[in-house]
Amino acid sequence: MGKLDFIDKDLEQLKKEGLYIIIRTIESPQGAWIVVDGKKVLNMCSNNYLGFANHPKLKEKAKEAIDKFGVGPAAVRTIAGTMSLHTELEKKLAEFKGAEATISFQSGFNANLATIPALVGKEDVIFSDELNHASIIDGCRLSKATIVRYKHNDPEDLEKKLEEYKDFPGKKLIVTDGVFSMDGDIAPLDKIVEVAEKYDAMTMVDDAHGEGVLGRGGRGIVDHFNLHGKVDIEVGTLSKAFGVVGGYVAASKKVVEYLRQKARPFLFSSAVTPGDVAACIAAVDILTESDELVNRLWDNANYFKTEMKNLGFDLGISQTPITPVMLGDAKLAQEFSKNLFKEGIFAQAIGYPTVPKGKARIRVMISATHSKDDLDFALEKFEKIGKELGVISG
Ligand SMILES: *Cc1c(COP(=O)(O)O)cnc(C)c1O
Repeated sequence: MGKLDFIDKDLEQLKKEGLYIIIRTIESPQGAWIVVDGKKVLNMCSNNYLGFANHPKLKEKAKEAIDKFGVGPAAVRTIAGTMSLHTELEKKLAEFKGAEATISFQSGFNANLATIPALVGKEDVIFSDELNHASIIDGCRLSKATIVRYKHNDPEDLEKKLEEYKDFPGKKLIVTDGVFSMDGDIAPLDKIVEVAEKYDAMTMVDDAHGEGVLGRGGRGIVDHFNLHGKVDIEVGTLSKAFGVVGGYVAASKKVVEYLRQKARPFLFSSAVTPGDVAACIAAVDILTESDELVNRLWDNANYFKTEMKNLGFDLGISQTPITPVMLGDAKLAQEFSKNLFKEGIFAQAIGYPTVPKGKARIRVMISATHSKDDLDFALEKFEKIGKELGVISG
């Protein structure tokens, strides 16, 4: 037995269980239509909610920044990597979000790994929604705090758990996704904040799928519930609706100052590149000026979801442009996705362990870049394949 033989065995097992991930290659810019494996298809599975990933203004600003600042930051933020662009982005994000301050990170994933262990340690306790994102789970584990999982989107269960820890001497942190990416449902943040205040717990929301989507002009979940100043930490990503790459935390000046001193990915991993930061600034500028793209996203989502329901599809509990088409059986979901691809639609099947067993689905992501014709094309194909596979009647 060779020392790396376990890898062959594990990979073989993944393939046997149908869990081996096939990574497709995109050969064009992101947009409503993309080229995948040599074929032009309608893109219904990107996080490019507003079309910023290939937006002319963002590209122009990125190029300008490269000419002015070069391609790399050449250091971590705390040594020599903080450029005027980084501080401009942080200032503009704070204004956009209505927060006192923000601190930017290399990704949303990193923002969670940075923030949770900075705030709590092994003497403390974290209350975490059972369906939280992997980056929250990893951030919690890194902190070495006690982790208590509460039932998904269930403030009553959260309160029960907090009551059990009423006399716990350490700090308490409640953490939840804002929008859950597989079902498209929204955390009841208003109720969570109420419970948190009663038990004097810190609150943290990861709004990766709410940035640029929820709230006035895409200002996110805190704005959606009008909870400004009441949520201690708001994590955001710049790689979904914002179309680029990066993450950040919006919070009070005090929390941001603390993270600048304590957050390890901020201290020990290089800053985001000038081109990326400039593109992010352009995205914030566009959203600050106009809610047109966000409105188009919601119009598209409402149209597509209404028509899909009329056709008889089960869209689960989605409240956002994330549109899970619930199919149940993993094999059926894979076949549906494969047939869609043949008909010119790129929409991935998602099964266990990303979603529970028996809850496989096609996850459709609606974007402002889709035209009405694009959506009608998709509806026609969903109807055709839905009938062929016996998912809907007719
Ligand atoms: C996508 C996602 C992340 C990761 O964001 P990146 O910027 O891509 O690293 C973190 N949290 C949640 C809830 C997400 O959906």
